[in-house]
Amino acid sequence: QPISAPPELTIFRSKLPDIPLPNHLPLHTYCFEHLPECRDLPCLIISNSGKTYTYAETHLLCRKAACGLSKLGIAKGDRVMVLLQNSAEYVFAFMGASMLGAVTTAANPFLTSAEILKQFKSSGAKLIITHAAYVDKIRNFEGMTAIVTVDEPPEGCLHFSHILENDGKFEEVEIDSEDPVAMPYSSGTTGLPKGVVLTHKSLVSSVAQQVDGEDPNLYVKRDDVLLCVLPLFHIFSLNSVLLCALRAGAAVFIMPKFEINTMLAGIEKHRVTIAAVVPPLVLAMAKSPEVEKYDLGSIRIVLSGAAPLGKELQEALRNRLPQAVFGQGYGMTEAGPVLSMCPAFAKNPTPAKSGSCGTVVRNAELKVIDPETGFSLGRNQPGEICIRGPQIMKGYLNDPEATATTIDIEGWLHTGDIGFVDDDDEVFIVDRVKELIKFKGFQVPPAELDSLLINHPSITDAAVVPQIDEAAGEVPVAFVVRTNDSDITEEAIKEYISKQVVFYKRLHKVYFIHAIPKSPTGKILRKDLRAKLAAASAA
Ligand code: ATP
Ligand code: MG
Repeated sequence: QPISAPPELTIFRSKLPDIPLPNHLPLHTYCFEHLPECRDLPCLIISNSGKTYTYAETHLLCRKAACGLSKLGIAKGDRVMVLLQNSAEYVFAFMGASMLGAVTTAANPFLTSAEILKQFKSSGAKLIITHAAYVDKIRNFEGMTAIVTVDEPPEGCLHFSHILENDGKFEEVEIDSEDPVAMPYSSGTTGLPKGVVLTHKSLVSSVAQQVDGEDPNLYVKRDDVLLCVLPLFHIFSLNSVLLCALRAGAAVFIMPKFEINTMLAGIEKHRVTIAAVVPPLVLAMAKSPEVEKYDLGSIRIVLSGAAPLGKELQEALRNRLPQAVFGQGYGMTEAGPVLSMCPAFAKNPTPAKSGSCGTVVRNAELKVIDPETGFSLGRNQPGEICIRGPQIMKGYLNDPEATATTIDIEGWLHTGDIGFVDDDDEVFIVDRVKELIKFKGFQVPPAELDSLLINHPSITDAAVVPQIDEAAGEVPVAFVVRTNDSDITEEAIKEYISKQVVFYKRLHKVYFIHAIPKSPTGKILRKDLRAKLAAASAA
């Protein structure tokens, strides 16, 4: 064929009509817009203390936090670092900073001192809000003006209650919708975490794409109770749980950490209706005998995100929660973060297939491109997923080069994820470009093999990675955690997989291991497993 014009551009859109996005508003104004009607409704329910804050109380405490932070010298454009487990103070600090036009950069408090310092420096933070237990890791940071702790403050630190001791009055500042409000870091699954600049406009757009409109894509009602067990330092929980709930006037059940019995008891006691989860949590709930001991009948929606969830696992949990609608959202910190959402969560639901990540959010465009040529692909053809809309990040923090390679001049954000859109507009993620295993010329998506392995009754957890091979380039090998009573062999596992897949996806080796390394948001850390293999072959 002669060289011809590039194929037609195929753009996928939501089946839901576009809506006006109030993305001229600052994030806090937008989230508390319905405050007059919600004043006495429960807003935050704290799991460890049992304390409940109404919307009126929450809003006032956010204003007090703003006032207190401003007294500590935080002003428009300043960065506040939050190193907290999920807590009410997290909400007050984040919203308080937003009210001042300041920016929150949150991190996992378990990071090492060096890791925290890196983010502290690159974000230009000056104040840290944390727990007393972590103060030793941060005490000597240069440029720190204050350390605030939410519990008994060590010497030289302030108690969070101190910054709330005021009348909640502060000088209102002019906030532009293009001003940053949050600088989350990506999860560091494939390399070092990257600082992402999200503006008021990005987050308002993203929340509105989910919960606003006559027929919201994620229908959250005022009497809903959302499970907030995933860490708020990750964008999934911050956006799709906290911010969406506030906007909708629902209650947020805040848990500082995941422990299966506490979580199940909390769901039962507080009648949680919407459970935001990640695949390891689905795995725990699908396999743990504890689940039978609790009444989980209040759950009407299970929303899984952040990592691939196989349809077998999805089905296993569905059988345990027959009353709930089960579906996925697909997100990426840089994308603000939600790209697609299960349409079965809408007010007027349409069905979604098991294993699908839903349809692209409204007021946005999605395309799939051939990673080699960049040309757009049609339905059912896997390629790199790209997204365009008002919700995507402004850019990477202090890294114009990385920004320019991720967001092209036409405004498309390139995700690095391989996926396709089927005949019903549903998005399916195959795997990350970076994780695909290349066996001879063939591509093997490890997520597909993980999912088959986990489905085996003698396997508790599993992860597949490439191993260097002279003949094939790379071959898929598995790390497997056996169930307690099982002595299933390597041969049996290899055979179990061979029976279900084409020849090039067969496992070449199985390593038994005690646990699969995962990030706090449930992502398999394949880079750690690859390093393990490399170290073993070097030895
Ligand atoms: P890093 O970019 O630092 O290596 P990360 O990409 O894991 O880390 P996040 O922004 O937290 O950091 O995660 C986004 C990625 O998570 C997506 O690009 C995608 O690979 C994966 N992901 C999110 N939701 C889903 C989903 N529902 N199904 C499959 N994969 C998902
Ligand atoms: Mg990423």
